[in-house]
Amino acid sequence: MRLLNLDGRLQVSTASGLVDVAAASRGHFSSGPQDVYDRWEEFVAWCETSAGDLTPTDTGDLDPVRLGAPSPRPRQVFAVGLNYADHAAEAGIARPETPVIFTKFASAISGPVTTVSLPPGSVDWEVELVVVIGRGGRGIPAARAWDAVAGLSVGQDLSERRGQMSGPVPQFSLAKSHRGFAPIGPALVTIDELDNPDDLDLGATINGEVVQRSRTSQMIFSVPDLVAYLSRTVELCPGDVLFTGTPPGVGVGRTPPRFLGPGDVLRSHVEGIGELVQTFTGPDETLLVPDRMREAG
Ligand code: ZN
Repeated sequence: MRLLNLDGRLQVSTASGLVDVAAASRGHFSSGPQDVYDRWEEFVAWCETSAGDLTPTDTGDLDPVRLGAPSPRPRQVFAVGLNYADHAAEAGIARPETPVIFTKFASAISGPVTTVSLPPGSVDWEVELVVVIGRGGRGIPAARAWDAVAGLSVGQDLSERRGQMSGPVPQFSLAKSHRGFAPIGPALVTIDELDNPDDLDLGATINGEVVQRSRTSQMIFSVPDLVAYLSRTVELCPGDVLFTGTPPGVGVGRTPPRFLGPGDVLRSHVEGIGELVQTFTGPDETLLVPDRMREAG
């Protein structure tokens, strides 16, 4: 099953077009893409029993700018640092023995095709497999972790390195949460759609040049490992988002370092799921002025 957030309404993608879930279920399920995760198992069962009766409402070409994130307002967002051995090496850090966890604040989440205004500093790219939690829970064993997952998506963990590295300890969470720094999409894909959800090709290009390319089987901690590890401490809630870490090829690891500039087009993909497209514009100078001062003229 492939789920899309089109203009803020939950859609199921079928071979003949998009089905609007609220309309097709006569209001039994909400139109809001976030709400479906709280009733995930009921929703999956409804899709299976009514699949033959679902009539597409939108069969035309889809403008991807209309798409939002498949989980646009999660209760929690988790992200994993240094989860590919080669990426830890390019960062000059030893292979971690337990997952390195931080957050991207939820207001950074956007749809898959966006224009991002570069904040002051050095903005870097990180293509990542994103997990959206379905049933969730606590104390989930790795062997049953996939049962707690709704599906997979593509994410970009955009990162402003100057802010991240300044100060006595790294400021991962804040430096990775500027406006538009967490695009997710284009769809939520359930794992039955994928030949092997533990081994997916992923990569990124800038202006057509390949900058990252790997497979999710290269992750130090797999999706089941991460779900088990997190749920030992926190309750995983329906709709929670997990960025699973980036493979090598980021800008800060290059000699000399390379960062995103105005006009750059960043494309990020995960096999079987789809592609994100971010176009960057120059720093928005108005962001340098606190709102209170702007209002005061
Ligand atoms: Zn990352």
